[in-house]
Amino acid sequence: MAWEAVIGLEIHGQLLTKSKMFCGCSTAYADTAPNTHVCQVCAGMPGVLPVANREAIRSTVMTALALHCSIPAFSKFDRKNYFYPDLPKGYQISQFDLPLSRDGYLDIQGDNGKPRRIGITRVHLEEDTGKSTHPGEGYSLVDYNRCGIPLMEIVSEPDMRSAEEARQYFMQVRSVLLYLGVNNGDMSKGCLRCDANVSVRPVGSSTLGVKTEVKNMNSFRAVKLAIDYEIARQIEILEAGGRIAQETRGWVEATRGTVSQRSKEDSHDYRYFPEPDLPPLVLEPAYVEGIRATLPEMAPERASRLARQFDLHEVDALQITTSRATADLFENTAALLASGREAAKWILGEFQRLINDHGIEAEEQTTVRPQGLAALIRMVEAGQLSTTAAKTVFDRYFHSGEDITAIVNTMGLQQVSDRETLEPIALRAIAANPNAVADYKRGKTQALGRIVGAVMKDMRSANPALVGELLRELIDRQES
Ligand SMILES: [Zn+2]
Repeated sequence: MAWEAVIGLEIHGQLLTKSKMFCGCSTAYADTAPNTHVCQVCAGMPGVLPVANREAIRSTVMTALALHCSIPAFSKFDRKNYFYPDLPKGYQISQFDLPLSRDGYLDIQGDNGKPRRIGITRVHLEEDTGKSTHPGEGYSLVDYNRCGIPLMEIVSEPDMRSAEEARQYFMQVRSVLLYLGVNNGDMSKGCLRCDANVSVRPVGSSTLGVKTEVKNMNSFRAVKLAIDYEIARQIEILEAGGRIAQETRGWVEATRGTVSQRSKEDSHDYRYFPEPDLPPLVLEPAYVEGIRATLPEMAPERASRLARQFDLHEVDALQITTSRATADLFENTAALLASGREAAKWILGEFQRLINDHGIEAEEQTTVRPQGLAALIRMVEAGQLSTTAAKTVFDRYFHSGEDITAIVNTMGLQQVSDRETLEPIALRAIAANPNAVADYKRGKTQALGRIVGAVMKDMRSANPALVGELLRELIDRQES
């Protein structure tokens, strides 16, 4: 029997507000001591009152609009009750039946390169929990610094049919969040995370199979591996005549598998009820339209525009615009040059390679600037720098951010493109290689390469293209 996977993602992203969701505590808790960014409100003391963060609501509405959601005029916060040490109140303030937004979509590149539209059920707002650590036998520690950080949840429809589609969708959502500047996209620190609901069914069936929820995936690679693993696991059970248990499973990187964590709760297990300490959210159409008007140009539109404006291949433009920082670097570099093609080649080639090698994001690098990259490209185009030398220069520039000309001079990589300097060396090489010259004259054009090699041996900084040109001229002159 042929099987089909059905996948939906729940993506959680911390919002980049200055203060927490319902209190004035600072959100800048990274690298600080545990429990130093906590007040009575986020620590869940009795008798305190939450106040909703205006900026968090604005960021969520903005994201929802970018994901083509509609924003109802009326929404509210609800209490989601559960008991866990990292949740001091004993409930999380979230949104249940009347979320801030609903019914959106995101277009992605599906399997076989075909465009696919993934439905977005809702984008809502809630608060993050604290963090428990289990450092030794018999005790645990809890840090409430993360408690109450504004957390946006983006819930998709079960529209994805493969792990690769899920990965593409997640990458696309991350790109949207980075374009909007509402989340830092950092998955390794859990600022952006995703859970996957996975089930399988016979191809052609329209009923849904029993799903499991897969957690703990903190990279795009892990999302792909974990979902692939889970699909295979479920198919194996069903083909052996077994049943899938509705449960939450955690991805374990070390063993490359998912393990059962707990049986999955249904929403009624949480005893949701309206948060009595917060008024409902009433968003005026003028407020929503005001936010819509500030939406930046997003990746797909920017890709089309850059492709037109700078004569790029569509595929290159799409790749460049995946990250806003990369797109900015490209656009500002290309604007300084006659054509965008070279800038695209460098950014997708050397720049991307170094970024990947260092395991960082384009947003995090601070050394490569449009002026520097444009200067480097101009030197190559002017024949002052060979492509190989330019790569060496770029590598150093990426690490140090020094002035390009200074790097070229310090490293002595300037290419000699001066005919008067090259001519005597070329003549010497012609005299020293009579066989190659004879071959070349007989029409074996590749014999010229041997003479170019001889010149380059004599002067490593010679411009090889110019040397070739010069040799042809000199040999032709001898002939006549
Ligand atoms: Zn607080």
